[in-house]
Amino acid sequence: LSAKLQNVFKNLRSKGRLTEDDVKAALREVKMALLEADVNFKVVKGFVKDVQERAVGQDVMNGLNPGQMVIKIVNEELVRLMGSDTTEIELQPGSAITVIMMAGLQGAGKTTTTAKLAGKFKLKGKKPLLVACDVYRPAAIKQLQINGEKQGVEVFSMGENHKPANIARAAMEHAQKNGNNVVILDTAGRLHIDEDMMAELQEIKETVTVHQTILVVDAMTGQDAVNVASSFNEKIGIDGVIVTKLDGDTRGGAALSIKAVTGRPILYVGMGEKLSDLEQFYPDRMASRILGMGDVLTLIEKAGVEMDEEKARQMTEKMKKAGFDFEDYLESMKQMENMGGLSSVMGMMPGLGGMGGGKMPEIDSEAGEKQMARMEAMIHSMTVEERQNPDKLNPSRKHRIAKGAGVDISEVNRMVKQFNESRKMMKKLPGMMGGMGGKKGRF
Ligand code: GDP
Ligand code: MG
Repeated sequence: LSAKLQNVFKNLRSKGRLTEDDVKAALREVKMALLEADVNFKVVKGFVKDVQERAVGQDVMNGLNPGQMVIKIVNEELVRLMGSDTTEIELQPGSAITVIMMAGLQGAGKTTTTAKLAGKFKLKGKKPLLVACDVYRPAAIKQLQINGEKQGVEVFSMGENHKPANIARAAMEHAQKNGNNVVILDTAGRLHIDEDMMAELQEIKETVTVHQTILVVDAMTGQDAVNVASSFNEKIGIDGVIVTKLDGDTRGGAALSIKAVTGRPILYVGMGEKLSDLEQFYPDRMASRILGMGDVLTLIEKAGVEMDEEKARQMTEKMKKAGFDFEDYLESMKQMENMGGLSSVMGMMPGLGGMGGGKMPEIDSEAGEKQMARMEAMIHSMTVEERQNPDKLNPSRKHRIAKGAGVDISEVNRMVKQFNESRKMMKKLPGMMGGMGGKKGRF
């Protein structure tokens, strides 16, 4: 029986497999979309090759056509590439000071993002100190001071006549005296990658202990952002990236390339000029934005639900079938437990949503495994004849089963009662499921 059921579920899944042609055709579209989104060409090439290898031969999920199935795989792979989860800036334990150095080209958004981050840390109960290490533009110091004031955090500056590394060192002393536990160094950028800038950042790192070097890149610069990220990572080493100006039209392919090229996580994204416009980076949202196929992805998500509905339908079909016996019962209970219990299966059934609840024999997940094991033991203690003819069970047979399974006779009685209730319930189903036919026309 188990093999039979397994087959049913397998058939549900395989409406066929992805052929090389299916995959190639869909990936041509994906390739265009990624290049349009400003994903680095080399990254696209490698990505497409990987997905092709992974996708060919995979089952096409119910409710999807082969092209959509490829997109589903592409999307999963994009999410995986960008790190499947959100990443937090790592802080030093206890009351130790965490030093964060902001780096990036001029205009990338370092100063703005420094103030935005200060707001986040303040919300977490930290006491940040912002440090003006950009000594080349008087306006830069003023800008940090204004933003710091807006956020209600302290700004440390020594004017323009000191070396950034020395400012950083003095700021550390100040932080220690003042009880600041997060120090954010706002550094100077240049218009292009240059040796002076790197040397300056390096010197800061040699003078104070920097725990986190965060690179700020402008999403609108597209491909350039990737080159910037890889040079910064090579020269000074970065721990994480913040991508700014994602509130614009850009699809943000840079985010994907940066992660692929540097291996460093994207921590936050800048979504506007306001100091509150800094958001956690969500790989799945970014993947969907880069692909630019929101409609298809929504459809794919729905198909996942549809597949569960289909499983639920198969299961109730099986349960309402005449001749439903103890073996079927055990098998369905196991399957159902995997799907979140009977009431959840019923909930997935169109028109049956309200039916579940108290009347149904529910296997709650906590005690589920133990209960399942005992049920299995009881059913295995029955003879084949008893399993297939539930009505044959009389007190002396029940007694024997209880002994064989090592349970109390009351438990055998309860199990048989639940079985009978389920069977009764299932017999009522055909009439109630009349409206189901039209359900599949959704896609
Ligand atoms: P820095 O030279 O790296 O310090 O860059 P700034 O912090 O001075 O930012 C340069 C410009 O970009 C400023 O006008 C900011 O208001 C703007 N900016 C920074 N982040 C964002 C963002 O996420 N979205 C938008 N639209 N503008 C931003
Ligand atoms: Mg600045």
